Formats: sequence, C-alpha cells, structure tokens
Amino acid sequence: MSRTPAPAFLALVAGLLGAAPILGEVRSAQVVQEGTDFARGRFDPGISLRGGNLRALRDASFESSVLDAGLTFSAIGPHWQGAAHAALELSVSPDGVRWGGWIAVPREGEIGETCEDGTPNPFSGDSLGALVFVAPNTRFVRYRVQLPETPSGEAGLGRVAFHVIDPGTGPELPIAGRHGMEPGETALVRPAVAGRAGRRASAPPPEIPNPVPGAGKPPISLRATWGARPPKTGYTYTLAAHLAFHHTATVEDWSATTWDECAARVRTIQTYHMDTNGWNDLGYAYVICKHGDVFQAREDDDDATDVQGAHDGFNRGSAGISLLGYFHPPVDHQPTGAQVSSLVDLMAWIAGRRGIDPLGRSLYDAFGAPVDNLYGHREVKATDCPGDHLFALKEIIRTSVSDRLLRMPL
Ligand SMILES: [Zn+2]
Ligand SMILES: [Zn+2]
Repeated sequence: MSRTPAPAFLALVAGLLGAAPILGEVRSAQVVQEGTDFARGRFDPGISLRGGNLRALRDASFESSVLDAGLTFSAIGPHWQGAAHAALELSVSPDGVRWGGWIAVPREGEIGETCEDGTPNPFSGDSLGALVFVAPNTRFVRYRVQLPETPSGEAGLGRVAFHVIDPGTGPELPIAGRHGMEPGETALVRPAVAGRAGRRASAPPPEIPNPVPGAGKPPISLRATWGARPPKTGYTYTLAAHLAFHHTATVEDWSATTWDECAARVRTIQTYHMDTNGWNDLGYAYVICKHGDVFQAREDDDDATDVQGAHDGFNRGSAGISLLGYFHPPVDHQPTGAQVSSLVDLMAWIAGRRGIDPLGRSLYDAFGAPVDNLYGHREVKATDCPGDHLFALKEIIRTSVSDRLLRMPL
C-alpha cells in the first residue's frame, strides 16, 4: 500500500529520532500470514491449500507455524479474511520455546470498508477477533483455526493477521499532571493497591475531590496523562442526547493492579482502533478501568460540546462510555463496583449538563428510532456488547444516575 519514502525523508526521520527519544511511544506492527505462508503449518486431513487459500472439505483444523513479530508486544488483535465462521485460538511465547496455553479469540465483528476519513481500509471485510492482552515480553505467536466446511462458492481462509502492540511506558509527568487538576485543587492520594510495589517507581495518581455533591465532574485522567496519540484528523462535534455503555471486549487475565497498567491498556486500544479499525481516534468518549479510574478518550477539555465518536455505528447525538473488560462468555469478567460507580458518576455529570432524563426514551436521530436515553450497545446493533454481565445492571445504572441527579443541589 505504501510507497518507499524518499531518502531525504528517511534521513529527516532518523535525525528526529536521534535527537529526542520519545518516552511512552507506542510501537505496533501487522504480522500477516497468507498464501504460501500457510504451507509451513500443520494440516488436518480435510484441509487443503488452494490458490493461496485454506479450504476445508469438512469441519477440520489447521495449526500454523511459529510467527516472529519482530518486536515485543503486550497485546495482540487477530483479524482474518474469509471463513467468517472459523474458530481461532492463539498461543504466545517470549522466546518461541516456552508457550502459554491456547486462548480462544471470540469474533467481534467485521472491519468496515472504509476508514473513518473515507479512505479504503486495507483490511476491509476481515473478521475482527477480540483484542487479547498478554505478558509484556511476548514476541512470538502461533494459532490454530477450526474451519467449517468451505461452501463451494467461497474462497476459504485467505489471510490471518495479528496487530501486535507495545503501548510503551507512557509519559513521565509530574504527579499533579496525572488527572485534570485545576490550579488550587487539592490532591487526594488514593490508597496503595496491592501489587503496585513491583512496578516502576511512579506514585499513584491523585484524585480530584468532587466539587459538587450529586452530579459534579468526576475525576478524569486526561489524554496527556495517559499518553494519547493525537487524532488523525480534526474532531466532529455533537451534543449528546443519549449515553451508550459498552465493554472494550478485551480478553485478559484481569491482572492489572496499577493506574499505569490500565493507562497502557487504553493506549493499546487507541492504537488498535486507529490502525486496525481505521478510526480517527479511540472509538469511545471515555474508558473506565476495573479500579474505577476514568480515562478521557475521544474527548477534549471543552465540556460545552461532545466529540462525536465511533462507538455504536451511528454516533451522532450519542456519547459512548466503555468499561474495560469482557463481560460476556467465554471470558466472563464481572464489572467491579468501582467501575459501575464511576460509570454512574460520569453519566450523571453528562446527563446533568445536557438535560438528559436517565429514565427517559427518545428518538435517536442517527439511528432513526426511539432508544432509551441510557442504553447498552446491543440495543442499537447486533452485538454482545456490553456483555450480559454488564447489561444485566442497566436498570440499576439508570436509577442510580437518576437518584444522583435528583440529589443535585439547585
Ligand atoms: Zn460496544
Ligand atoms: Zn485501573
């Protein structure tokens, strides 16, 4: 797709890199296996390689050779062309010798024809697997696919690709920069979380005391604090009349204990959304980790408007808030109390400013039909999102947001 850059440009890039090493830089690559690459794998009887595609005469499996990503990574997002109903599992290794167990990767949907800016997406039509967080020193991957019988008119499995991401270490910022503090605000230091000691020597991020009992602005970790990449193009603005809740559909062992680890996950999701989904920025307006920390995602610091996201397929007039996790089989994370409590705080703050009745239902213009003002993604699209375990809390979330607004001082 890309042309070879001119030598002068490369020299300029090298000069810039040499001059100022960038802390917290995200590195990522697409590791692609296609055509004759498949020949090095292990074929079950019933699988054949024809015209560069894997085809199945009957339900059968294929196991790949070992793929070296060429860089260490801590997240891997698979996507594949053809065979939409293939069941994919992957296994990763730091050295190509010691391997972790097989991880089943649920299919989350399909990559759109175009990127958000209208240019063609090179992975258009690929099935999109869930993003999987793995150990940070991972470099190698192998996979196996269970292929249902290939229908006669179809080509079969044509390409398997993995977007591998190293989110870097994040920016080094003074403590006061971690959350969006205003001058004169007091920093409250949250209690240390078990496991924090083993991480790099950064102090825990401070919280902003809630200035208004009720529906004031909750503490939010601004983009600069977690090391967001700038959006590809300028934002489009909207005014939210609906608030959607999602899960990030990320597969992991649920082991994060520090703000730094969660910030790294948000950087990872941003790069995945921008470079595999082809979006302008993160799809969601906010992301909430299991510790209840709120990360500013596709939003800016102007609370008078909302940035239009890419979160539910319609987007205009709706703000998307995503809880980090996979609250659905087969992963079955459970949303934490801190996470849901922060979701309620955030929704109450937005609903209060935008005049959204949390118990109401109104026309969602971009969708073309009435929708509950606070809704789960699955109410407007055929998706498991936000997962059964989070969606089951919808009424509690709605009534809690409503209670919070009723208690708001005049
Ligand atoms: Zn969703
Ligand atoms: Zn966290």
